Amino acid sequence: AEALLEISRFQMHFHTDKGVVKAVDGIDMTVNEGEVVGLVGESGCGKSVTSLSIMGLVPQPPGKVAGGVIRLAGKELTSLSGKQWQQVRGNEVSMIFQEPMTSLNPVFTIGNQMVEAIRQHHDESKTEACKRALIALKEVGISREGILNEYPHQLSGGMRQRVMIAMAMVCRPKLLIADEPTTALDVTIQAQILDLMRRLNRETGTAILMITHDLGVVAEICDRIVVMYAGQVVEEADVRTLFRDPRHPYTRGLMQSIPQLDKRKERLYSIPGNVPNPRQMPSGCRFAPRCELAMDRCREQEPPLFTLGEGQLSRCWLHDGQGGTEHDSHTDTA
Ligand code: SF4
Ligand code: MG
Repeated sequence: AEALLEISRFQMHFHTDKGVVKAVDGIDMTVNEGEVVGLVGESGCGKSVTSLSIMGLVPQPPGKVAGGVIRLAGKELTSLSGKQWQQVRGNEVSMIFQEPMTSLNPVFTIGNQMVEAIRQHHDESKTEACKRALIALKEVGISREGILNEYPHQLSGGMRQRVMIAMAMVCRPKLLIADEPTTALDVTIQAQILDLMRRLNRETGTAILMITHDLGVVAEICDRIVVMYAGQVVEEADVRTLFRDPRHPYTRGLMQSIPQLDKRKERLYSIPGNVPNPRQMPSGCRFAPRCELAMDRCREQEPPLFTLGEGQLSRCWLHDGQGGTEHDSHTDTA
């Protein structure tokens, strides 16, 4: 498959009074055309900043691209002007968020907002745009009469998320970024929304980058998973490999903290300790303060990503000399 989104050595730093926050600190990541990729990590690991960077939505300052590039379909995004961004955003890449109430405007009808979004990219009449909006709503399972005249507060949370997906998909973007799209929804609705996203992916070929803290969600719909910790990628693998054989101690910890319905009484494991203060990253491996397997070397030297075969990568010294070969991500950028 062709690479659609290519992030290489990308760094987004924030300059604050108290120092520099290296929210995203040199990540490499690819989403192929038509692929569904999960970007997973605890809150504060840099996954949301990564997604906002792809959308050009990080305010600069205080944000600053400290290095690297982001390419979408071959186009370098980090150097686009505000005008160029307007063409890319909504058209080539769209995004949906956790709480659609904050991205839908409460004072305008659904129809108003959809027609507006469509007409930003298509030179067509309001009547034509309305037709297009109704088709998009039907695609996400909303066909109720009069929906275009309703206001966001008249819809349930699940319906609002469907409307957001319809709006995001209406211009057939190449990439849809979904940041915790189901976190605010109850379990049944959550499953329906994930089904919907998978179906749209199959039917339209739009690739999806799913940002979540929930490995259960990515297991449902992703082809491949990238795990982030403290601003870096720590593991990457296709979904089956990752669930069968997670290799990074952090990923293993995340796996153990997935709630299991059949073992309801068992206490939920959570990884001890906290994510490091991004202004004072630990030297060596950033996970070392929380890692049960940490060795002296881990506190001194930063581990590279090791290639473990079959496209699986893991940033851990345990793989050194154990069949892991160093993956030098810095040679394939040119
Ligand atoms: Fe743990 Fe060391 Fe591997 Fe880091 S490099 S995850 S501290 S074993
Ligand atoms: Mg977030």
